[in-house]
Amino acid sequence: MNIEIDTHSHTLASGHAYNTIREMASMAADKGLKGLAITDHAVQMPGTCHIYYFQNMRIVPRRMYGIELLMGTELNIVNEAGEVDLSQELLSELDIAIASMHLPCYKGERSKEMITQAYTNVMKNEYVDIIGHPDDGRFPVDFEVLAREAKRTGTLLEVNNSSLRPEGFRMNTMENCRSMLAECKKYGTMVVLGTDSHIDVDIAEYPYAYQILEEVDFPEELVANTSLEKLKTSLKRMRKTK
Ligand SMILES: [Zn+2]
Ligand SMILES: [Zn+2]
Repeated sequence: MNIEIDTHSHTLASGHAYNTIREMASMAADKGLKGLAITDHAVQMPGTCHIYYFQNMRIVPRRMYGIELLMGTELNIVNEAGEVDLSQELLSELDIAIASMHLPCYKGERSKEMITQAYTNVMKNEYVDIIGHPDDGRFPVDFEVLAREAKRTGTLLEVNNSSLRPEGFRMNTMENCRSMLAECKKYGTMVVLGTDSHIDVDIAEYPYAYQILEEVDFPEELVANTSLEKLKTSLKRMRKTK
């Protein structure tokens, strides 16, 4: 399987990542990608950048080193209502948005019922294109409901290579990812492969994601980022403007 665009990466702006936009783009080009999404942590993540960083994104060139850059964010889901930490107006100006659960930022109840409700609600947001690392067992979720609602709302579910690392800090990710992919197969829900790179060398490296897709015999047509064009036309915000 060839992945043309990595949909999840962080720069120095996130506060716990180590490269500039230019360094990330250069590495993505060196590794043969056609595109890279830069998705720095939105404002409620401790240590990340100020809201002005996202408000000024229009000035960043969308081509560098011959590849296309999608400038976006990884939002924090803050409660069961599926609220996130950037406004709809600002989100409408970005190229891509992931919404994820992070321990320091989620203020809701962490029962399976409430987490599932939070995801279901955030997927109704027309500017939330992708759910980031839903395999994190610290946030238990009903994968059947998640895959069904993702399909219904046109939201992509992420297979996050960093989550699946044996030394990773998220919980039960392999098992959860398998359950998620089984439900995605059943409902015809599309997924994306994201590295969640916090350093340039991790870009486009998907050993664990590939392994799990192979294990569950996941259909390639349901992987949205096997081509840059396919990914772009699979983003909720792009489909809306057509
Ligand atoms: Zn991070
Ligand atoms: Zn995350």
